[in-house]
Amino acid sequence: MNILAINPWIYDFAAYDFWLKPYGFLVILNYLQKNGINVDYIDCLDGKITEATFGRGKYPNEIVEKPEVFKSIPRYFKRYGIPLKEFEAKIPEKKFDYILITSSMTYWYPGIIEAVKILRRKFPATKIILGGTYATLCNTHAKTTSGCDLVFSNEQLENFFKTIGVDFNYNKLYESLPAYEDFYTKLDYIVLRTSWGCPFNCNYCAIKKLFPGFFRLPEEKVINFIKKYSAKGIKNFVLYDDAFFYEPAYAKSILKKIDELKLNINFHTPNALHLRFLDCDLALLLKKTGFTNPHFGLETLNPSLQKLWGDKVNRQDLVEGINLLKGAGFKNGEFSVYLLLGFPRQDLDSLKKDVEFLNSLGGRVSLAEFSPVPGTTLFEEYPKEFNEPLLQNNSIFGFFQNEKIRIFWEIKNFVRELNKKLQEEKLF
Ligand code: SF4
Repeated sequence: MNILAINPWIYDFAAYDFWLKPYGFLVILNYLQKNGINVDYIDCLDGKITEATFGRGKYPNEIVEKPEVFKSIPRYFKRYGIPLKEFEAKIPEKKFDYILITSSMTYWYPGIIEAVKILRRKFPATKIILGGTYATLCNTHAKTTSGCDLVFSNEQLENFFKTIGVDFNYNKLYESLPAYEDFYTKLDYIVLRTSWGCPFNCNYCAIKKLFPGFFRLPEEKVINFIKKYSAKGIKNFVLYDDAFFYEPAYAKSILKKIDELKLNINFHTPNALHLRFLDCDLALLLKKTGFTNPHFGLETLNPSLQKLWGDKVNRQDLVEGINLLKGAGFKNGEFSVYLLLGFPRQDLDSLKKDVEFLNSLGGRVSLAEFSPVPGTTLFEEYPKEFNEPLLQNNSIFGFFQNEKIRIFWEIKNFVRELNKKLQEEKLF
């Protein structure tokens, strides 16, 4: 059986390769290959135009027409990724049994529509199947709008395998890690998971819809995977785990083995680590195994918002966690903490105080822009208009008018300045 697999473009006001890879899709493609299926793969986001630190960089991009709902926003709307002509040239001249398209952020769906348009012209009789985050969280919208023949949410994965006639083995699938060399000719970094899902239940997060439960990979598989790519010269490893520290004994055991191997690599944690599970040993292991600017989840120090958002970390956990990091050798400005910006009932003065407090402790602040995510308990409180995925885009702050958005930009600049000062202190 021949399958053509596509990771489509991003359509947005801004996009940057912050270690973005369609990880779950690559795991599925790997599984299909192991089941004897020929896979041709096109990643529309492969091919950065700048090389920034740790393998990150800018995507090629082109201004495109703004969707009607964005007409009043005075910013360019763009397609990020390879030019359309390059995409067409990459499509192999052969017959495919199925075309698989993955999806990520719900509001990037115009990239799927564009890909379907081109692929339909070339393969009018081939079934196009959509899966991934948008297909899961906006299933009805994807069925009516994407132009794909079949749309499967993550919980329908077994049906997907049945449809294409491949055996589904849950453990085998989730225990596997991608064979990147089969899909990419150039690798600037490697993304991996040691686990799927998250045992917590923050009410703004859709993880339970995307992966119910919590699944750990066998340690040996993770270690061998890291050894394999380190031997190929990869320096930057990006942990996509949502709860790497949950059951800290597992994290410690993996990191001890990595430390013994003396691989001289960096780890990055864009999905955040849990401060509450940090202890002295774990903090030391982070330092010894090359965790670079580790990111931790906090979201807010406001007690009522903490309660509302899942009560993961309080002020005391934060102070104790930062002391442990410093005890392990992380200096001011060498670790980051996420705060959420743009929640409808958020008191922005108290957010500014949180920023100042974190800065006084030596932590860089990473502002995560709040967005309405379908499938979350909070989403049920939002007006119906947010059912349109384009309005779920965090960068437009869909809940707010211009004056409030201006204050958000002030806070963003304020954070940038404070982080810069920490960076400068680090250098002198
Ligand atoms: S926000 Fe993080 S900790 Fe909370 S449920 Fe989602 S993945 Fe888990």
